[in-house]
Amino acid sequence: MPRLSEVIAALDALWPPERAEQWDAVGTVCGDPDADVGRVLFAVDPVQEIADEAIALGADLVVTHHPLYLRGTTTVAASHFKGRVVHTLIKHDIALHVAHTNADTADPGVSDALAGALDLRVTGPLVAENNLGRICELDQPETLGDFAARAAKRLPATAQGIRVAGDPEMTVRRVAVSGGSGDSLFDAVRAAGVDAFLTADLRHHPVSEATQHSPLGLVDAAHWATEWPWCEQAAAQLDEISDRHGWDLRVHVSKTVTDPWSAHHHSPGAPN
Ligand SMILES: [Zn+2]
Repeated sequence: MPRLSEVIAALDALWPPERAEQWDAVGTVCGDPDADVGRVLFAVDPVQEIADEAIALGADLVVTHHPLYLRGTTTVAASHFKGRVVHTLIKHDIALHVAHTNADTADPGVSDALAGALDLRVTGPLVAENNLGRICELDQPETLGDFAARAAKRLPATAQGIRVAGDPEMTVRRVAVSGGSGDSLFDAVRAAGVDAFLTADLRHHPVSEATQHSPLGLVDAAHWATEWPWCEQAAAQLDEISDRHGWDLRVHVSKTVTDPWSAHHHSPGAPN
């Protein structure tokens, strides 16, 4: 059975921490480097439901995409929900490790997993300087409506579902995808000259301007849903490493929906 430090070294080789953005907080949040690791759980969010799931599973390590503490803290008291997560994990000898923007910019990274979930052929990065997002081609051109339906079918179900901006009948051949919040990437999307952009957390003004500027299709999924495919990709990568080293790790992916939006009501008379 490997020690935590050996597993973390393998994860750092997949997603080098030095490739994380300056503002980010990646790496090990809690855990004893000398502790044995037999079971690992991958999830998007380090929230209480995931800590509880790790206990039920008997996991020794939870690897999440989002940081628990992004801006630093002076307390891990269990009176705060983040401190409660820390207490829960430490009480049960469970380590927490974060791979965030270092996983976004890795090869393969978060957007490769998103492209893979939709069976898109990746042709290159959306932003070459930091390897962020991906430009992809569809095997067959399809309508924006069909492309959005593909996203709805292939990504895990959420209350939000999929929102579309642009003419649902427009033809889509080349698309950009970016897991997580993508509305800082509109300049790169326009420069790439793609027909559509699949991402999350898009806001009114950037969407309004982007669709007025040129016939660009926008497909907005729940943030959690666009990043969840990375958990499966990451778990498969760790499985392969475990086999190579004879570690015999048990690697799991959480199916718990931690997207914070919990319901969606369709307005009567609104377009589908
Ligand atoms: Zn995210």
